[in-house]
Amino acid sequence: KLVSPSLESESELAFEGALRPASLAEFVGQKKVRGQLQLLLTAATMQNRTPDHILLAGPPGLGKTTLAMIVAYEGNRPLRMSSGPAIQHAGDLAAVLSSLVPGEVLFIDEIHRMARSAEEMLYLAMEDFRIDIMVGKGAGATSVPLDLAPFTLVGATTRSGLLPNPLRDRFGFTAHLEFYAESELEQVLARAAQLIELPIKKDALAEIAGRCRGTPRIANRLLRRVRDYALVHGGAADIAAVHAALELYDVDAIGLDRLDREVMKIILTRFGGGPVGLNTLAVSVGEESETVEAVVEPFLVRIGFLTRTPRGRVATSAAWQHFGLVPPPGSTA
Ligand code: ADP
Repeated sequence: KLVSPSLESESELAFEGALRPASLAEFVGQKKVRGQLQLLLTAATMQNRTPDHILLAGPPGLGKTTLAMIVAYEGNRPLRMSSGPAIQHAGDLAAVLSSLVPGEVLFIDEIHRMARSAEEMLYLAMEDFRIDIMVGKGAGATSVPLDLAPFTLVGATTRSGLLPNPLRDRFGFTAHLEFYAESELEQVLARAAQLIELPIKKDALAEIAGRCRGTPRIANRLLRRVRDYALVHGGAADIAAVHAALELYDVDAIGLDRLDREVMKIILTRFGGGPVGLNTLAVSVGEESETVEAVVEPFLVRIGFLTRTPRGRVATSAAWQHFGLVPPPGSTA
């Protein structure tokens, strides 16, 4: 899926690495969060202490990993990267925590997916830079306290609602990342184009910015396909190349792809605009219901094409309009 906000491949990871802004000044958009982080980091530097723990919440592809790297870079601190799914036992976390050097930034991506036992260990570690390690088994087991080097935890989550309160409360600051405005995405794209040495006109950048679902990761990915198109066809990366490349990959003028359109069209034409249940919908488009729910629907809801009601999914009047269709008489759209 070209417009999926998740990382799609190893080569994309390398490509992204090359495009990551290294400092807060280079980071585009999220003005509020940038200001909040700047204050927190500067205060810590002035007091010569590790910055408070930071939670970054928001959908994939908006810059959480990038910000974690920036927190380390701005404070000139080493960075350790881990992720919730990699921490399946308290022991996994103990190994990471006990090997941190003073002042290190520990980034845990998808922190809501960490094992419960590890979560509990993290409470004490965050608060007192200390953990209790269990030694032995059964009745003879004892807990041995272990002091840790002071560190800054940067947690990232796409689902801050899934974090238990005691964990959420231990972060000094929670940043809520927002989807980017088109003007900001143009800046992200202009910067990326410069880095990959792709000459591209402003109108072509604006056209890509309108199709990337408010997400820098998708913006960079679409830019890459436009670059490929220009390269293979020996032409400029102009607006015609953007149209042709994105048509080839089925990304329409507002960033909907084939599956998004198919889901909408089925609701509109086969179910008269809904309500239609998720499972019925998924079967009709031949996809898993998880895919429809997690990958397709969030964007359709965000752009106001779809509402989720207790009786099922319902198309809005904006959706009828976009697809040039007329709601049946008596429909609520
Ligand atoms: P997340 O961790 O939230 O999924 P990432 O930090 O991995 O997102 O960002 C994905 C890509 O988007 C990175 O390659 C990065 O270069 C780019 N990116 C994200 N936010 C910005 C931004 N504010 N300015 C410039 N590039 C950005």
